[in-house]
Amino acid sequence: RRKWRRVVGVLKELEQSCETTVGRLRQVVDAMAVEMHAGLASDGGSKLKMLLTFVDKLPNGSEKGTYYALDLGGTNFRVLRVKLEGTRSSTLEHDVYRQAIPQDLMTGSSEDLFDFIASSLKEFVEREGDISELSLDRRRELGFTFSFPVKQMSVSSGTLLKWTKGFSIEDMVGREIAGCLENAMTRKGLNMRVAALVNDSVGSLALGHYHDTDTVAAVIIGTGTNACYLERTDAIIKSQGLLTTSGGMVVNMEWGNFWSSHLPRTLYDIELDADSPNPNDQGFEKLISGMYLGDVVRRVIVRMSQESDIFDPISSKLSMPFILRTPLIAAMHEDDSPDLEEVRRILRDNLEIPDVPLKVRKLIVKVCDVVTRRAARLAAAGIVGILKKIGRDGSGGIAGGRSRSDQKMRRTVVAMEGGLYTGYTMFRDYLHEALTEILGEDIAQHVIIKVTEDGSAMGAALLAASHSSYP
Ligand code: ADP
Repeated sequence: RRKWRRVVGVLKELEQSCETTVGRLRQVVDAMAVEMHAGLASDGGSKLKMLLTFVDKLPNGSEKGTYYALDLGGTNFRVLRVKLEGTRSSTLEHDVYRQAIPQDLMTGSSEDLFDFIASSLKEFVEREGDISELSLDRRRELGFTFSFPVKQMSVSSGTLLKWTKGFSIEDMVGREIAGCLENAMTRKGLNMRVAALVNDSVGSLALGHYHDTDTVAAVIIGTGTNACYLERTDAIIKSQGLLTTSGGMVVNMEWGNFWSSHLPRTLYDIELDADSPNPNDQGFEKLISGMYLGDVVRRVIVRMSQESDIFDPISSKLSMPFILRTPLIAAMHEDDSPDLEEVRRILRDNLEIPDVPLKVRKLIVKVCDVVTRRAARLAAAGIVGILKKIGRDGSGGIAGGRSRSDQKMRRTVVAMEGGLYTGYTMFRDYLHEALTEILGEDIAQHVIIKVTEDGSAMGAALLAASHSSYP
């Protein structure tokens, strides 16, 4: 009995240290907006890098021609071809090819990685059907979505600042990325030009904006997490004299690296961070994204098993980092069978812990709930932080003058993408609930989260079109 109490104690302690009251979330909102300011003021002014993208025009539907995209940034890479008719269409005709990245290529050499990608791309290009509209003197153009922090020199070139999400190819850091891909394409005999080098969140924003011009920001919550938004160039203090015809530029926040003392952090998070290949880095990402949620839950279960014998006999599986993937915690969390059969199955088959009593299975569901709810609510606070920075949170701070009640809140769309949001219903529900709590219902009803599908790739193709060298 005492041991059961100890396990319940672990849960209680977890609940307390993961607490995200609306007051706490508002502090995170403010911290996000403050850090955005700081990151725009100077390079290195904040943990938020607030990277310039040189994307100053977002697609609006008038784009025309056949374009390619390559999307590299997570567990898979995607190649895509899209045909644009010059008028906005709700369904974009396209072909996709998707492939997992072999684990060894994520930590090998850059040549090996890019040769592998260029080969797949070439195969895909050669499978294209109707090429009648491609004139012979015209190179095919590619939007390259590269979802790691990049210091951009132009819309089509940039150097890698650092790897995230389990990638670690040391010789790539500091090198120009589009050039690496173009070299590999040349080695493979593929004549194609990188017209736009973009972050996945920027691709999502481009696709969102193509469909709905009220789209002002994009958020990715998949294996990792990031966000970008449309900023006024005169607010980008660190690049004085930056001129764009639109007066705006997309800023890639690299929000995965956001940190604030207001973020609720547990011992498990601290351990996870210390054991990670990038300690003290990507702190927000480690609280929020799909790569990590499962492992936070696993660490809590490990702790519970140390406090009691209810998980005995303990298999060595439980001590293996990342063995409990986030889709598994989603499956346990969303198990609605009365006996929690799915939880039993996952504990048995994935962690090799047999015969966990029902009341313990219930406890584990609760652990999944606490960890996921915290992630979703913090993501919501991050989104409101962006809205606050651009004066779309209804507080009237920037529009000024009028009181909250008579201020007309403009329709505001945030493009959303990523498996954690689209695949995990409870995560999505908690995120929406927190948005409403933070903003209040009156304002929240004007904020629309719209899922973009394959936007990171599709948007890159659209940006290749809007930045084509064949006007
Ligand atoms: P990536 O971010 O790797 O490019 P996705 O956006 O599809 O690709 O996100 C995949 C990630 O989303 C997975 O690593 C996993 O963590 C999470 N995920 C996918 N499906 C689910 C699900 N059904 N429940 C919970 N998490 C999921």
